Amino acid sequence: MTELPFLPFAKPALSEAAIEEVVACLRSGWITTGPRVAKFEGMLADYHGGRRALALSSATAGLQLALMAIGLSEGDEVITTPLTFVATLNTIVLAGGKPVLVDIDPATQNIDATKIEAAITPKTRAIMPVHYAGLPCDMDAIYALAKKHNLRVVEDCAHAIGAEFGGKGVGSFGDIAVMSFHPNKNMTTGEGGAVITDDAAVAEKIERLRFHGIDRSAFNRFTKTGSQEYDVVLPGYKYNMMDMQAALGIHQLPELDGFIARRTELAQRYIEALKDWPELDLPTAPDYAHKHAWHLFTPRLKTMERDAFMNAMKAENIGVGLHYQATHIFSWYREHLGVAPEDFPHALSVGQRIVSLPLFPTMTDDEQARVINSLAKVLRNG
Ligand SMILES: *Cc1c(COP(=O)(O)O)cnc(C)c1O
Repeated sequence: MTELPFLPFAKPALSEAAIEEVVACLRSGWITTGPRVAKFEGMLADYHGGRRALALSSATAGLQLALMAIGLSEGDEVITTPLTFVATLNTIVLAGGKPVLVDIDPATQNIDATKIEAAITPKTRAIMPVHYAGLPCDMDAIYALAKKHNLRVVEDCAHAIGAEFGGKGVGSFGDIAVMSFHPNKNMTTGEGGAVITDDAAVAEKIERLRFHGIDRSAFNRFTKTGSQEYDVVLPGYKYNMMDMQAALGIHQLPELDGFIARRTELAQRYIEALKDWPELDLPTAPDYAHKHAWHLFTPRLKTMERDAFMNAMKAENIGVGLHYQATHIFSWYREHLGVAPEDFPHALSVGQRIVSLPLFPTMTDDEQARVINSLAKVLRNG
């Protein structure tokens, strides 16, 4: 039998037009922040109902700058989920705050919105929900709490650009949303991220923080009409997006809804094939109106140990991802938050058993059939 090629769990879908745009950018003589970033930001703004869009080097940069822009200060508490990529917690710490964790609802794998209020203290400044795997959190409940307790909301939408809550796109309503364009995410710019907000003061602060605290964009400074002089209004970072990156984004964004449609087809086919298997727990849909972006398809193993499962799938030439181990078990967070693994039992248990099956827009039906056959072989000797 000839060996089938390795099937990764994620793969970016880059069109020829996107690739040619990068080449055109390289040939144009302007490869860092410039006209292509400005165009991409305009497209992102349009996609999110005309809100401000600020392109950045990553979502990690976006989360950190969003928290700095709301004026987070030493000791302020930010409520978030333990089941996330560690960047969510790291940026809270880097912005001077303290992550306060609230356990997940094991059915949706999102933060359990009914448990947030009990975690609010006089020091709480913000809630940072993560729309895990592309499934929006209960944003009616979260924004009601934010209003009642006068809190900011920074939505970690790294998995969720293109998802909808109650008929509205994430980022097109609410306070501050942060998108990721890492190659594994729903659309990519190589590396990259964006903040979407309608708060003009937050947008202006991020604009300065992302580029050295300079109060005018570099592009304007170097055009013929722009003045050469600038002012520095605070010590800023170097978190700008390059035109080479935006060249991809300009072609990815118009394809996003199509990518999600294909992801949804594949996810539904996984659910159909796997729903009665006693070897797996599948994530379930909440009862509020939403559109899932299906960034990840993440069943939990019930009968097999995860390392053994991942190795067995690898032997089948199939890549399986791990999103995520619960963050509160990592040594820095265990020590500095003073939490024990069993303090968040659902996140702990899900984080020990979860796997991400291959799911990406260019995945074929045959490739998915291969995954399902290998799952049967590995999990049920079938
Ligand atoms: C990927 C990811 C991030 C960070 O995104 P980058 O663009 O890689 O910085 C943050 N939060 C979550 C939940 C993620 O999955």
